[in-house]
Amino acid sequence: MEVDYIIVGFGLAGMSFAHVLEKKGKSFVVFEDGSQHSSRVAGGMYNPVILRRFTPVWNAASQLEKALPFYRELEEKLSQTYDYPLDIYRVLHSVEEQNNWYAAADRPALSPYMIPRIIHKPLPGIRAGFGFGKLSRTGRVAVPKLIRDYRAYLENKTGFFAEKFVHTALEFKEERVQYNHINAGKVVFCEGFGLLQNPFFKQLPLPGSKGEVLTIHAPGLQLESLVKSAVFILPLGNDYYKVGATFHRTDKTDTPTEAAREELLQKLRIFMTHPFKVVDQAAGVRPTVADRRPLVGKHPQIQQLAILNGLGTRGVMIAPETAEQLYDHLETGKPLLPSISINRFQARWPPRDRSVQTG
Ligand SMILES: Cc1cc2nc3c(=O)[nH]c(=O)nc-3n(C[C@H](O)[C@H](O)[C@H](O)COP(=O)(O)OP(=O)(O)OC[C@H]3O[C@@H](n4cnc5c(N)ncnc54)[C@H](O)[C@@H]3O)c2cc1C
Repeated sequence: MEVDYIIVGFGLAGMSFAHVLEKKGKSFVVFEDGSQHSSRVAGGMYNPVILRRFTPVWNAASQLEKALPFYRELEEKLSQTYDYPLDIYRVLHSVEEQNNWYAAADRPALSPYMIPRIIHKPLPGIRAGFGFGKLSRTGRVAVPKLIRDYRAYLENKTGFFAEKFVHTALEFKEERVQYNHINAGKVVFCEGFGLLQNPFFKQLPLPGSKGEVLTIHAPGLQLESLVKSAVFILPLGNDYYKVGATFHRTDKTDTPTEAAREELLQKLRIFMTHPFKVVDQAAGVRPTVADRRPLVGKHPQIQQLAILNGLGTRGVMIAPETAEQLYDHLETGKPLLPSISINRFQARWPPRDRSVQTG
C-alpha cells in the first residue's frame, strides 16, 4: 500500500492534520491505539482571554480566524454540528477584580471579546456578590464527538488502523519510509503526551499536565453560558455540565482520582448553590510544553519524520492553524514561525544521532 502520509495519533492534532491532507488531495493512513485521552476528555472551550489575569492568549486572534472556519468545514463534511457559540460569565470576587475587568476590557486585543461593564443580573443557582464579567465570541467545540465522527468517516474511506504504531518497525528507504506493508512519503507524529515513547522526538520538553473533569446533572439549573470561578461549569445540554479542570504536574496517569473529585466539588460548592449529582469523572494528560508553545516541524536529521504536538491547554484554537502551517512547511518548504518550530530545541539532539538509522 502506497500513501503520501502516515499519521500517528488521532486526537485534535492528528484529526486536524488529516483534514488538511484531505483538503489538499493527499493520501494517508492513521494509527490510533487509544493510549492517550486528552482530546477525549477536553471541555472543548475556545476563549481568547486568560480568565485568571484578564490577559490575551498568545496569538489568539490569528488562531481563531483559522479555527472557526476549519470547524465549519468539518461540520459540512460530516453533516453535524460541533461548534456551539457560548458566552462566558466570569464570577468577580472583589472590587479590585471589577476594576481589573474594566481596565482589561479597554485593551485593543481584548475589547472584541470582553463586555466593558459589570453584569449584576444574577444567574439562578450561582453565587456572585461582585457580579460577573461577560465574554462573547467564545464557545465550545464538541471535540469527543467530532473525533468519533471523523474516525467513523475515515474507517469507511481510507486506512484507519486501531493499533499501536511501533516506532522500531519503521524502515527508511531512499526518500520514503516503509512500515510493514505501508510505503509512505512521510510520518507525522501527533501522539500528545505519548511523545515520551517516541524514540525520534522524545528529547523535546513535554512535561505534560494531568487534568480531571466531572460531568454533573443539575436538573432545573438551565445555564446557557459557561460560568467560571475557581472551576468552570460548561453546559453540555439537557442540564448536563462539565466541571473542571484540575492541574496536576506529578501524576501523569489517565486514572481519575478521589482527590481530584473532592477538589472540584469543594471549589464548585463555593459558588454553585443548585443541587446536582456527579454522573462521570474523566482524566487526561495535556501535552503541555515548558515554554507553552506548540512543537511543530521536521526531525532535524530524518526528513521523512515530522511532529505536531504541544497543543497544551488550548488544542481547540491551536490545532487547525498549526496543522496548516506544518503542511505548508512539509510540502512547500515555507518556514515555520520560530516560536512554534522544534528548531528552538535543536541543541537537544546530539550532532549526529547514531541511534537512528536513516538508510
Ligand atoms: C481535562 C482537560 C480539559 C481540557 N479542556 C480544554 C478546553 O476546554 N479547550 C481546549 O482547547 N483544550 C482543552 N484541553 C487540552 C486539549 O485537550 C489538548 O490540547 C488536545 O487534546 C491535545 O490533542 P493532541 O491530539 O495533541 O493529543 P491527544 O488528544 O492526547 O491525542 C494523541 C493521540 O495519539 C494516540 N497515540 C499516542 N501514541 C500512539 C502510538 N504509538 N500509536 C498509535 N496512537 C498513539 C493517543 O491514543 C491519542 O489518541 C483539555 C485537556 C484536558 C486533559
